[in-house]
Amino acid sequence: MKRLTQLFLAAACSVAFSLPAADAKKSPGYDDTPVIPGQTWKVHDSKRPHPPIVKPDVSPTLGAKPPAGAVVLFDGTDLSKWKSAKGDAPWKVESGYMEVNGKGQVTTKQSFGSMKVHLEFASPKEVKGESQGRGNSGVFLMGMYEVQVLDSYENVTYADGQCASLYGQWPPDKNVCLPPGEWQTYDITFEAPKFADGKLVEPGYVTVVHNGVKVHDRRKLNGPSGHRNVVAYKAHADKLPISLQDHGNPVRFRNFWVEELK
Ligand code: MG
Repeated sequence: MKRLTQLFLAAACSVAFSLPAADAKKSPGYDDTPVIPGQTWKVHDSKRPHPPIVKPDVSPTLGAKPPAGAVVLFDGTDLSKWKSAKGDAPWKVESGYMEVNGKGQVTTKQSFGSMKVHLEFASPKEVKGESQGRGNSGVFLMGMYEVQVLDSYENVTYADGQCASLYGQWPPDKNVCLPPGEWQTYDITFEAPKFADGKLVEPGYVTVVHNGVKVHDRRKLNGPSGHRNVVAYKAHADKLPISLQDHGNPVRFRNFWVEELK
């Protein structure tokens, strides 16, 4: 029944543009933002249709063991591979997971370029807030290209900001979110952008498999993620740390590793 409500909400949201102006305002998002380069939609466009809701099978990578050669960033015991702006990573660690606790983002000590990333996350079991205020965190590849983490189970927000979106650029092809408190998987393949002489020569590409379902297939990044704006590429190092966002919601992470790609 709840799922039906979500379907209805998603459908209602996607046709909001045909509603009277007063009702259209209720759809989360914006209409005063720039158009996303190469697309017809604006950044966080309130009229952008939402992807279909699909119930996934159990993810084949849930609880998977890190392959040989992988850099294990979190094995459930400590945050020794992470730091904060001030020093040690201050997030809570218990029962095999790390949890956002309002003390700021955490960043890997090691830098990475192109890579495969596996991680598992869970939205807070206690449902609080709505739209971007519910279960918000994010995986910032190279500290600037965000794969959104959000509780998008029965929670409508703008399409390019829902869970598994490439924030502000691309909604996922499907909404395969599990209910709050359940462990979900991300298997991300990231091709880092390439620069030469301070100029972009090859953009970044991201493939995201969420709960075993491919929701982005080598999607081209326009540049770093931005809120309500378009951010142009700026030349940066070949390798940079990964950051996890503290958006004030107690999102959990576990089983986090990286396989470096050439
Ligand atoms: Mg986020």
